[in-house]
Amino acid sequence: MGQSICRYCGAELKICMTDLGVAPLSNDYLANNRLSKGQHTLPLKVFYCDACKLVQVVDYEMPEGVFNEEYKYYSSFSTSWLKHSENYVDYIVKRLELTNTSKVMEIASNDGYLLQYFKKYQINPLGIEPSTSTAEIAKSKGIETIDDFFGATLAEKLVCERDKFDLIIGNNVLAHVPYIGDFVKGLSLALKESGTITLEFPHLLNLIKYNQFDTIYHEHFSYLDILSVKRIFHDNGMKIYDIQKLDTHGGSLRVFISHKANANVDISEAVENIINEELAFGLDKVNVYKEFHEKVKNIKLNIWAKLINLKKNKKTIVGYGAAAKGNTLFNYCGIKNDIIDYVADISPFKQNLYLPGSFIPVVSPERIKETKPDYVLIIPWNLKTEIISQLSYIREWGGRFLVLIPEITEL
Ligand SMILES: [Zn+2]
Repeated sequence: MGQSICRYCGAELKICMTDLGVAPLSNDYLANNRLSKGQHTLPLKVFYCDACKLVQVVDYEMPEGVFNEEYKYYSSFSTSWLKHSENYVDYIVKRLELTNTSKVMEIASNDGYLLQYFKKYQINPLGIEPSTSTAEIAKSKGIETIDDFFGATLAEKLVCERDKFDLIIGNNVLAHVPYIGDFVKGLSLALKESGTITLEFPHLLNLIKYNQFDTIYHEHFSYLDILSVKRIFHDNGMKIYDIQKLDTHGGSLRVFISHKANANVDISEAVENIINEELAFGLDKVNVYKEFHEKVKNIKLNIWAKLINLKKNKKTIVGYGAAAKGNTLFNYCGIKNDIIDYVADISPFKQNLYLPGSFIPVVSPERIKETKPDYVLIIPWNLKTEIISQLSYIREWGGRFLVLIPEITEL
């Protein structure tokens, strides 16, 4: 592999934060007829750019035909995420005093899980969703949706055809765009002079602090902190004026952004507080990243020891929640079907498929009641509380829950 270059500033990437070996794309779930063909894998490494501070997955070469169009993640399958979205809409409509003439756009609007809540305020929002199959679901709910990738080109077109926006929403999208500079330029072009952008993304600080290496996958290009995000928006004529800490996805941030020239917003203390927290933790220094590299290798050994011990004691283990994080975890740790019998998932779109890389079958949660496993490994640990309450019936046969991140825990 040749030199790797920062996707934002073009500097050479020298500091490896973690090397998770090779893995297939995390949402490349396989149907039965693909199992005999094997699966294409790509290197999965994260680097810290010491020039612009952006933490990023190193560039990989996508072979033709590998891109998986059957996007399997539908936001509406998580009840806690729906509640989070509804609360956000109620909050933001009030805070920004939006009315039925306000122009609202969400980028990566998925199946309309969030935009649907604007209807009660008679606001007709626009969704941007590159996955055609997912966009179709949103359209069927009556939410206008454009199936395209957002960037400067689409922003210019939208402004020409429809004017600029009062509110632009991006939840878990900023980290998922390969060229963050072009994306942010697009946001700046599409935002009204008085407008606000809110973005939610998992906080890099938590990833490092709480060992969330399983949130690393190819489609998750950047791992964000305020130090880097502030710089990228500043370069594009914008400023962060408020930040809220959220519990979602293992600890996310919601940032509020406006044009630099917008004098009607006051910069909240929260912005400086979080920057100070990041500096105190050392996110601007290379040592934090080098230490993380070593830490992840140790976690793998501990996970192995735990699972080997359970299997030696003839325990049955199944997984719950076929989330992307499970694929990183299983592929990095070499966990396959001889350790995990199956993974149950509530989404019918994933059932009867196989996990990328590990080829562990995905089944309906009903199977847990039929097979009565000793352990249920909760893969989306961020939804731990919700899942434990949904599956409390495993206690009837003495079943236990297992969580591996941030540390190995039996519940
Ligand atoms: Zn850079």
